[in-house]
Amino acid sequence: MNDRDSSSAATAAAATTPLFALTLAEAEARVAELGGRAVHVRALRRAALRRGARELGEALETGVALPAGLLARMRAAGLVASSSHPVASAPAGDGSQKLGLRLADGRTVECVVLPAEKGLHSVCVSSQVGCPVGCPFCASGVGGLVRNLAAHEIVEQFAHARAVADVRRAVVMGIGEPLLNFENVVAALDVVVAEMGLAPTRLVISSVGFPERVRRLAASGRRFGLAISLHAVGDDLRERLVPMMKGVPVRDVVAAARAWAEATRGRVQFEYVVLAGVNDDLAAVDELARLVGGFPSYVNFIPWNRVEGMDFAPPDEARVVALVRRARELGLVATRRRTLGDAAAAACGQLRRGLEGARAAEPPRVTSPPSRPRPPS
Ligand code: SAH
Ligand code: SF4
Repeated sequence: MNDRDSSSAATAAAATTPLFALTLAEAEARVAELGGRAVHVRALRRAALRRGARELGEALETGVALPAGLLARMRAAGLVASSSHPVASAPAGDGSQKLGLRLADGRTVECVVLPAEKGLHSVCVSSQVGCPVGCPFCASGVGGLVRNLAAHEIVEQFAHARAVADVRRAVVMGIGEPLLNFENVVAALDVVVAEMGLAPTRLVISSVGFPERVRRLAASGRRFGLAISLHAVGDDLRERLVPMMKGVPVRDVVAAARAWAEATRGRVQFEYVVLAGVNDDLAAVDELARLVGGFPSYVNFIPWNRVEGMDFAPPDEARVVALVRRARELGLVATRRRTLGDAAAAACGQLRRGLEGARAAEPPRVTSPPSRPRPPS
């Protein structure tokens, strides 16, 4: 697994090796040295991902018998089920549950288990600690990027979520910009497909849409779902709302999304956070229809979820209804994000701010990030 971006996490956890920091083959080799077999490693990893085991040896399927002393030898060798641990759990009152996870280096991220829809629970996972993109309406961008998550730290979120609910779908829509941590996100989702048994099409990556990264995702041959956070149809407003995309025209983002849809035969989900008086005029929907109307896509209008200290206002419900109606009149498939889960999911990043103590006291930036990194080429 590619853990190059997690050097600080690795240093802090030097004495232990989390089970998912190894590829399956590496884990099998390690356990073979300790007197176990491939079948035992697979059973331990399945217990974590399919049964929510948080400790080695917990929740094994019936019929799995580990050799005597294997668990003790694995522990003595520093192998642990997870490098991260739940430190807070906040029910949102609508059936969703936000989990704060403490990482090996003391940082925190969060994942949110969403209530079942058609019997299937989803989890919203984070890809970075913080986010460098700096969208002025989003709590996750406050303070910029701290570091990328390692692949195993992303996989572990699935295991922690599985301990709470029978998770069958996921969105990489928590803290961070997944396509800026491309290799680790893809490596983690590959493990989830192979070992948790989730279909790739049920794993949706949400991104602001760096064109080169979207094309790379298509070229990788993976069939993960793709959501593009658009929020604006004009370049000037988009640069304001998604500062790191300065210099990348909206039409280039949409062209990359279209290429992805053609390559994967998938349907792009466009996200449009509705900010009162900023991007909620009906004329924007006409332009939106021109931009995204020609290929399989749908548009999700998300009423902005208030973040304290930020100079935006949520839209009136009537306006959101009007935007959805107009989009449908123009032939788009359009939805208003379901209410369920909003409180937990849309407020991305806020639990982390609460948990990281001192950092929570920093006033949120509302105009631009401290540095404005260039989009990846
Ligand atoms: N960085 C990625 C994924 C994480 S953000 C992205 O931007 O797509 C996931 C979604 O939550 C994005 O569509 C984002 O615009 C939205 N979001 C962030 N803060 C929000 C808020 N306060 N209210 C509503 N949606 C928000
Ligand atoms: Fe980062 Fe997404 Fe939040 Fe923008 S909306 S700051 S890209 S997490």
